[in-house]
Amino acid sequence: MDHTGYAIIGLFFALIHEFGHIFCISVIFKKPIKNIHLGISNIDIYQCECGCGLKFFQNIVIMISGSFLNFVAFFTLIVMYNLTKKACHYHAGLQSFAIGLFNMLPISSLDGGKILKLYLDKKFDICKSNFICKLVSIIFLIPIFFLSVYLLTRSRYNFSLLIIAIYLVYEAIMSKKFI
Ligand SMILES: [Zn+2]
Repeated sequence: MDHTGYAIIGLFFALIHEFGHIFCISVIFKKPIKNIHLGISNIDIYQCECGCGLKFFQNIVIMISGSFLNFVAFFTLIVMYNLTKKACHYHAGLQSFAIGLFNMLPISSLDGGKILKLYLDKKFDICKSNFICKLVSIIFLIPIFFLSVYLLTRSRYNFSLLIIAIYLVYEAIMSKKFI
């Protein structure tokens, strides 16, 4: 598969991921979606400011739902690969798994970071919660940053992960959501 093919499949699994969130909010919990904000590494799906009475566990389920669909796609494609032995199923499955796993990292603008924030807000005051979120985000972003530089030096054109890493560092440090 060429690089354009991988990019299109990556975009498809990113859309599957966001569909998981939208389906969970609107269909499972029957709550309105206020607006959808397109970011570099993710799409923020905002609910009503009042929170619409969503409980802690419901918010967690919403955060997990995107990656859950990616993992379902991964298992489906691995089963298809075992049946057909077509390498494209295997590679597409891995791409879906990578997107799901990446979004579960505890980095502030990703789903994993939002889950961590929800949990810490229950345990600590807002200042301590914000501080821990930023610290954990930076700890996880350091290896991602070095990996992205390594990938760029190896491929000489694969700068997409580096852009995402820089964006996530900026979001982790500057985002008003976490100040
Ligand atoms: Zn997500």
